[in-house]
Amino acid sequence: VPIIDMKGIVKVYSDGTRALKGVDFSVKKGEIHGLLGENGAGKSTLMKILSGMIHPTEGAIYINGREVKFKSPADALANGIGMVHQHFTLVEVFDGLHNIILGMEGHGPFSKIDVKKAKEKLQKLMDELNFQVPLDVPVENLPVGVQQRIEILKTLYREVDVLILDEPTAVLTPIEVKELFGVLRKLKSQGKTIIFISHKLKEVMELTDRVTVLRKGELIGTVNTSETSPKE
Ligand code: ADP
Ligand code: ADP
Repeated sequence: VPIIDMKGIVKVYSDGTRALKGVDFSVKKGEIHGLLGENGAGKSTLMKILSGMIHPTEGAIYINGREVKFKSPADALANGIGMVHQHFTLVEVFDGLHNIILGMEGHGPFSKIDVKKAKEKLQKLMDELNFQVPLDVPVENLPVGVQQRIEILKTLYREVDVLILDEPTAVLTPIEVKELFGVLRKLKSQGKTIIFISHKLKEVMELTDRVTVLRKGELIGTVNTSETSPKE
């Protein structure tokens, strides 16, 4: 059974835009799966549905063979699915640590959270991945590539099985892209499943095991990319 199976997904936005016209999308556990297509193809829409940000107009989602209906991103997280959005959701005046633990374990600014324990857990995560960020600097003072790392760590901190990244390389330098790909491969080796949204064929060929192509809200197909692209 695929870890993710989306069937017949239709999305009509309130202004009448038909962003998805009946798309099937399936992901195997432990793969890096690319979602490729031009701007407006429906990639973000499909992944916002999978991460509980928006609801499908029609269609069904199965996680490990079990049907789910996500009411919210918290629902998706509870099912092990987390998304890093193209536009960040960080609170700019907070530091990295507080951005990452924000919203966890009830409401109220960090009231129920043992900050020292949280910091230790986060440090362990960063060490394992060799993916460091300063935790005590207001994020507004950090470069965008570092802010993105904080977004990624925020999602990983919630112990997701499936990490979705929406056009993550758009804001990165070539060196940062290499570093990110290294981290994504390491996550894969730990058994995580990665969905990587991109409109750049070259990146997708370099990184992914399989790729699904969307065009104008329709599924073009899914192909193997791992044989054709040597991995380091
Ligand atoms: P992609 O991620 O492939 O660039 P999107 O899923 O963002 O594609 O968009 C698919 C289509 O849906 C586009 O025509 C886009 O303009 C439209 N769209 C996206 N979000 C909304 C929205 N909230 N309301 C109306 N139309 C939207
Ligand atoms: P992201 O993919 O990170 O959500 P986008 O730039 O695709 O960023 O979209 C920003 C916001 O604008 C989203 O909430 C999206 O749904 C909405 N949006 C995108 N395209 C349209 C559109 N054509 N009409 C209305 N809202 C849109």
